[in-house]
Amino acid sequence: MTLKFFVFNPFQENTYVISDSTKECIIIDPGCYEDHEKKILVDYIADNHLNVRMLLNTHCHIDHILGNEFIKEKYKTKLYIHPTEEFVLNAQKIFAPNYGFHQYHEAKPDAYLTPGESIEFGQQKFSILFVPGHAPGHVAFYNEKEKVVIGGDVLFAGSIGRTDLPGGNFNTLIKSIHEQLFTLPDDVVVYPGHGEETTIGVEKRTNPFCRLT
Ligand SMILES: [Zn+2]
Ligand SMILES: [Zn+2]
Repeated sequence: MTLKFFVFNPFQENTYVISDSTKECIIIDPGCYEDHEKKILVDYIADNHLNVRMLLNTHCHIDHILGNEFIKEKYKTKLYIHPTEEFVLNAQKIFAPNYGFHQYHEAKPDAYLTPGESIEFGQQKFSILFVPGHAPGHVAFYNEKEKVVIGGDVLFAGSIGRTDLPGGNFNTLIKSIHEQLFTLPDDVVVYPGHGEETTIGVEKRTNPFCRLT
């Protein structure tokens, strides 16, 4: 499996392209907004002869969805979100201009993600974990065989997602981290929505926000 990420838009959001030897790929949280950002993503996919199978959002905050419409149209792919994120997605067209994203175009979801089920492409399988708290319908994608989890804005290296946005809840977030992420093996690598990757073990031992008191 090949995991590539790009840092896009002023929020420094991590956009993930995951592929394997079959050349199938999925795109998670496309934050590309400017033309040069879109070009970087398109060039990577073309240069590696990838076939985009799915477009997924861990959650629908503006920084994670700016490129949804572009990717959907460019690759004629379906957009998958958790159903509870639909109202978050719908609200972004109102928030976007306030953040300076005047060229944001909305993309509607085509299918819903069901926690407990899996998404599959190529030879890869990712379980869908339900991890609300930063956003109400936040999900993470866990590949047990490859020992990676694409975690969005739930758990960061040394930090956690903010919970002051609409639909956020601190206690729910801590519960999600402990029940859904900290139950994974220590050597699972967490690829977050912002910043560097980390591991479950390191965060369990050292993350100051995740201590049970
Ligand atoms: Zn977020
Ligand atoms: Zn974010």
